[in-house]
Amino acid sequence: MYIVFLGAPGAGKGTQATSVAKEFGLVSIASGDLFRQAVVRGDELGKKVKEYMAKGVLVPSEITVQMVLNKLDAPESLNGVIFDGFPRNLKQAEALDEALKKQNKKIDKVVYIKVEEKELVRRLGGRWVCHSCQAPCTIEGILAIEQRKCRKCGGELYQRPDDNRETIKNRLKVYFTETAPLIEYYRQSGRLIEVEGEGNVEEITKRINSALRKKAII
Ligand code: ADP
Ligand code: ZN
Repeated sequence: MYIVFLGAPGAGKGTQATSVAKEFGLVSIASGDLFRQAVVRGDELGKKVKEYMAKGVLVPSEITVQMVLNKLDAPESLNGVIFDGFPRNLKQAEALDEALKKQNKKIDKVVYIKVEEKELVRRLGGRWVCHSCQAPCTIEGILAIEQRKCRKCGGELYQRPDDNRETIKNRLKVYFTETAPLIEYYRQSGRLIEVEGEGNVEEITKRINSALRKKAII
């Protein structure tokens, strides 16, 4: 099974993709995570993408497509993949469809997680991420340093450098102009599953899992 998770920054793609991947025994390929790891390593790729990410604009598609398709060819991806944060424009979507077609595969379903813009801004502005388990956590207002611990594992929390006001604005703008048209692209080919992304995290996971199961039978 090959699934794309679509939605704005802050919609909860990463959180949901991780749970759903576990449920269905798939690997999750998150382009943003792969870029962040490259930046930490400080390798060629990391140096190339750092500036784009800091500004909140898309990394050029040639770089992104090559990186994601390499992962798709890895042995652990054979059972199926959830793509999280990729594709992000029409060019990437077409490149992905083409690459899968060559292997007699296709994107089976696209899970679009819908969240209001106001809620996205609220989530991203207060988002802290755990160094140890990567779980995101929303902190409203300013808390004492000692309270900034992960609720799941007690790990240290940090704020992503692109979760600042200016970059958040850019990322949302880029999403609405470049990525949102993909909703229609996938709807037209009958692959879109629309899921309400506001509310309890576990509830949303259940909704996605049951929608995918239903569609899998048909
Ligand atoms: P978010 O969805 O919260 O904005 P991501 O972790 O998915 O965060 O992406 C962070 C940044 O990485 C993006 O702002 C962009 O610069 C880059 N990026 C991630 N995925 C892609 C992609 N598919 N195409 C181009 N750039 C990407
Ligand atoms: Zn943690």
